[in-house]
Amino acid sequence: MRYVSTRDTSKTYEFKDVFIKGLADDGGLFIPSSLPDYSEKEIQELKSLNYSDLAKKIIFPFIGNFMDKDELSKIIDKSYSVFRRENVIDFIKIGDRSVLELFHGPTLAFKDVAMQLLGNFYEFYLSKQKEKINIVVATSGDTGAAAIDAIKGKENLNIFVLHPDNRVSSVQRKIMTTGKHENVFNIAIKGNFDDCQNLVKSMFSDTKFSKDINMSAVNSINWARIIAQCVYYFYSYHLIEDHTKPTNFSVPTGNFGDVYAGYLAKKMGLPINKLIVATNQNDILHRAISNGNYEAETVSETISPSMDIQIASNFERLIFDLNDKNSEQTSKDMMKIKEEGKYSIDKEKLNLINQDFLSARMSETETLDIIKSVYQEFNMVLDPHTAIGYGAFDKHNLNGNNIVLATAHPCKFPDAIQSAINIKAELPNELQFILNEKENYDILENDVEKVKEHIKDRSK
Ligand SMILES: *Cc1c(COP(=O)(O)O)cnc(C)c1O
Repeated sequence: MRYVSTRDTSKTYEFKDVFIKGLADDGGLFIPSSLPDYSEKEIQELKSLNYSDLAKKIIFPFIGNFMDKDELSKIIDKSYSVFRRENVIDFIKIGDRSVLELFHGPTLAFKDVAMQLLGNFYEFYLSKQKEKINIVVATSGDTGAAAIDAIKGKENLNIFVLHPDNRVSSVQRKIMTTGKHENVFNIAIKGNFDDCQNLVKSMFSDTKFSKDINMSAVNSINWARIIAQCVYYFYSYHLIEDHTKPTNFSVPTGNFGDVYAGYLAKKMGLPINKLIVATNQNDILHRAISNGNYEAETVSETISPSMDIQIASNFERLIFDLNDKNSEQTSKDMMKIKEEGKYSIDKEKLNLINQDFLSARMSETETLDIIKSVYQEFNMVLDPHTAIGYGAFDKHNLNGNNIVLATAHPCKFPDAIQSAINIKAELPNELQFILNEKENYDILENDVEKVKEHIKDRSK
């Protein structure tokens, strides 16, 4: 499989470039020049596979000659052996919808599903290559933790994680900062998540700097993450009992990565009816999808901090599709977004989007109310992100198999849970220790030169 950039389709890349670089040199995102297309019969045949075997089947066509089938197979088995569920996920029916729990990995959020695999991809790559890599990643709270767990202690790899100072929950921060591995560096930036993301982007586009430290990115724009996330859409589809009804997914969304993975599954032939993009009050994607107004506003802090984002990086991949895969037009649109902070989607394109996507926005009060009502009715504690996904179904009248992606364990957001239902969401036993452990992180100004210097001094 070959890949192109959303901003220049004249050049092609192999999976190795896509994985290691993350972002194309022209600033665009990588996408495959063609996709596998599963027939109904082939989809049926996937039903018998366990999670890891399904992952092997779905992911292999995307990786070209990066590794062979056996190598991939070993890596996938190893990656998913660290989950607390035999088949990675849990699928729980409550009332008229199902909850797809994706947070049974080491850092209690769905990001582990992709990140464990990426960590082992890096290790494999570096075992064949005389290279040292410095990973730099911006996090709204969960990506950083998942990336650290996947990279910690691995040879010839350093990881630098930028999180917005005081804007992640204390449990999120402690999971990141209490480790003892010397290849892990946590940096709190005095700013919000978009500032962190912009710092990483500008470090990347400084080619001298990024080449000097052999910089690599694992942000949600990384295609390898998307393909790993695509797998659980296929897997959960087969856990549905009644396939005469349409299947809809509601996905708590920030960077448009996870929900894009669902769209990818649909494009490969999985019969998904609608994907609901569920946002908190940072609702740029809801405004874009409901009335065509993609326009960044200032980020506000919410009880679902992993979605406190106004620049949804992966949206560029959808814009590219809406432009009929025209990279020139996509470049122009992205330039305009950068300069003017907005992009209006015309009626025709909006109709196209609405064939696949609906959206909903949840206020803070609504989110707390959902946590409360689900707890009272089903004795189940949803984390605030998941609650937003759950509530999104109430804003649309979709009959069918309605599946909510549960993206984080409630114990990561104890304050929100406390104020919704007045109980303490406990950490799993194996993570209790972080509460009393010493934290290790540096606080830096939102100043790219200072951050570069800090990273350079500590890079491999
Ligand atoms: C990252 C994250 C999201 C948003 O996922 P995107 O891929 O950025 O849309 C939602 N919920 C939780 C708990 C997360 O960590």
